[in-house]
Amino acid sequence: MRSKIVAGNWKMNKNLSESIALTREIITNVAGKLAADVRVIIAPTFVSLSDVSKIVKDTNVEVAAQNMHFAENGAFTGEISANMLQDIGISTVILGHSERRAYFGETDELLVKKVNTALKNQLEIIFCFGEELADRKSENYFTIVENQLKNALFHLSEKEWNGIILAYEPVWAIGTGETASPEQAQEMHAFIRKIVAEKYGDNLANSISILYGGSVKPTNAQEIFSKPDVDGGLIGGAALKAEDFTAIIKAI
Ligand code: PEP
Repeated sequence: MRSKIVAGNWKMNKNLSESIALTREIITNVAGKLAADVRVIIAPTFVSLSDVSKIVKDTNVEVAAQNMHFAENGAFTGEISANMLQDIGISTVILGHSERRAYFGETDELLVKKVNTALKNQLEIIFCFGEELADRKSENYFTIVENQLKNALFHLSEKEWNGIILAYEPVWAIGTGETASPEQAQEMHAFIRKIVAEKYGDNLANSISILYGGSVKPTNAQEIFSKPDVDGGLIGGAALKAEDFTAIIKAI
C-alpha cells in the first residue's frame, strides 16, 4: 500500500545506549501524532536492533535492518541472515544502499539474491538505487536508474511488489549537503513510476511508495515532500538527532 514514509538510516553511528536514547526520544516526539497513512522507520546498527525492536513494540515507530546476507545460514563470517532479523521482530530491511554498492562491492546480481531471500522470508525491502555524479553530468541518469531497477527488481511478480519500497538516492546528494532540487526529485520519481507502470501496470505503479534520499534536512524536507510522486524520505545524517528527524516527520 502506498504510504508516506520517513525512514532514518543510522549507518555506523550510535552505540547501544545512544541508540536506545535516540529511539526513546523519537517515540516520545511522535506518540499519538502520526496520520494514519504515515510510517516512521528507524534503522540502527545490528548491535542495537534487538533492544530497539523491543522498545518500539506497541508504538508507532518501526525498525528496519540496514542490510542482510542472501544465504539462509552457513559459513559467512560476520554476516546476518533474514531469519535472524525475523526472529528479533524485524520486518523491514534496507538493501542496495549506495554505500553497500560502493564500499562492499554489491552488484545488481548480488542484490537479486538478497531481494529474493528477503521476500521469501516475508521481509519488506527498502530498495535503494540512484545515479552517481558522473552519470548526472553526462545526462544518462535515466538509463542508469532504469537499469538498476530492471536488473534487481523486474523479475518479481506483482504480488511480490507488495513488499517493496523504493528509495531513489542520487549518490551525489548522499552525505554531501547537496540535495536534488524538488523538481529534480519529482522528475526522477515520475520517471520511476512510469517504468514500473510500463512493466506492471498503473495500479501497481500508483500503489508503491517512492522515497527520496540525499541530504534531506528540516529546512528542505517540506518542499521535497510536497512533490506528487515523492512519498517521503530516507534520511541519513539528519536522522541522528531526534529534533531534526522529528522536524522532517512533521514536514510530511
Ligand atoms: C542515506 O544514507 O541514505 C542518506 C540519504 O544520507 P544523507 O541524508 O546523510 O544524505
